[in-house]
Order: sequence, then C-alpha cells, then structure tokens
Amino acid sequence: MALDDYTEALEALSLGSRILAHHGIVDGFGHVSCRDPRAPTQYFLLSRNLAPALVKPEDIVTWRIADAEPADPNSPRGFLERCIHSEIYRQHEDVGAIVHFHSPDVIPFGLMPIPFKPVYHMASFLGSDSPPIFDIADSFGPSTDMLIRNTTHGAALASLFTPTPALESTSSRPLVLMRGHGATLTAPSLKLAVFRAVYTQDNARILASLSILAGGASNVERARFLNKDECDQSMATNSGQVERAWNVWVKELEDAAK
Ligand SMILES: [Zn+2]
Repeated sequence: MALDDYTEALEALSLGSRILAHHGIVDGFGHVSCRDPRAPTQYFLLSRNLAPALVKPEDIVTWRIADAEPADPNSPRGFLERCIHSEIYRQHEDVGAIVHFHSPDVIPFGLMPIPFKPVYHMASFLGSDSPPIFDIADSFGPSTDMLIRNTTHGAALASLFTPTPALESTSSRPLVLMRGHGATLTAPSLKLAVFRAVYTQDNARILASLSILAGGASNVERARFLNKDECDQSMATNSGQVERAWNVWVKELEDAAK
C-alpha cells in the first residue's frame, strides 16, 4: 500500500542520510532523495535544509518534480540545490534515488582527466569507462558560484546521465563528476544509491593510493581496471547483496548513538 511505502521511504531516507554522513560522504552539506512512492512521476522526497547527519523522518519534505517547489507551500525551506534532483527525475524515469555529495576523496577526479574506473568488484556499477565531468563554466560561463541554482543548471547536469532505460546496465552512467564541486549519482532505489555512494568514495580512495604506488596519476592509466564483462557480471552478483551492506551500516549508526 502506497502509504506504508511512504512511511518506509521517510525512515529509509533519514537512515540513508545519516549513513552517508557517518561515512564522510556528506558533511554539513550534500543530500539524498528518492521518488515519492505515493506519486513517483510527480513528486520526490528530500529533507528540509538540514545537515544530513541530523535528518529524521519528520524533516522530509515533498517536492514537485516539475519545478522543485514544495508540494505544500508552507513547507520549511529546502536545499538551494534541489534542482539537481528534480531535473534528473524529470529527464530519467528509471532513476529512483539520487545522492549529491562533495566528498574530498572524489573532488580530484573532476579537476583533470585522471581515469575514474572500477578498481574492484564493489565499484563495478561505474562501468568500464570514466564518468562524464560536468563543468558549469562550459554552459554558464566563468562567473558562477559553482552551484546548481535553478532548473536550467539542473537540466544541463541531468543531460549527462544515461538516457533511459539503461540504468541497470554497466553501459549506463550512474555517476557524473562535477568540476570544483563534487559529484551526483543515481540508482533505481534508495538503498542502492547509498551503496553506490559508499563504494564510489572507496574507489576514489583506492585510486589515490594506487596513484602514489604507481609514481603519479599519469601512471594510473596503465592499471588493469575491470573490463566491461567483469563489470556486468560483478554488478549482477552485487545487486543481491545491497541489503546486507545496508543492515551493517544501520547497525553502525545504532552503535555510534549508544
Ligand atoms: Zn553541491
């Protein structure tokens, strides 16, 4: 029943927010959203303007996909960058959840063309090609504050994700790096989006250590990253394991709260 699904989505979204904060993927900034199960083509769920580590189910607000405005005009203030979410949901019907984050581990890969490919099976969802880099200066000139401030900015970013219906395939692009800003990633479900965010950050950390071992970023190109078949097969295996990771991350939150 949609109402049960809605209650479950509020709980999962607040847990997902706190898991991302616990892993250092988001800090005072960054956000995670999912489609509203009551009306998934019209609305999405995203917290009010609040640090992700503090989000509780009652902080989640319903937003319109059409223009990123609140369904209820009396809702509390939202994140400035919520057009990231609305425009991706508007353009890509198979996206069920989105994480936008400024992880310092991921930022370097948006600044110059260092390969950002899967170094191990847990990051196979990235696919065998490096993700696109969104450079706000390309579309909006050299004089912005780097933020996605409106639907025009959001639409430009959203256009770099793979068109439907390829999201479950590794020929898709679930991740877009954002120069001088961070990254945004998509998934068909909320738990999978959180899973992907954790392993995107781990992949970045492993690549950074590989770069040191290899004698510099220019040598990373020689690494034997996962090929397309390995990505496809590994992704299929991992898709059944998301719940296992989610449960341990929730337990970590509970233990940290003691
Ligand atoms: Zn941002």
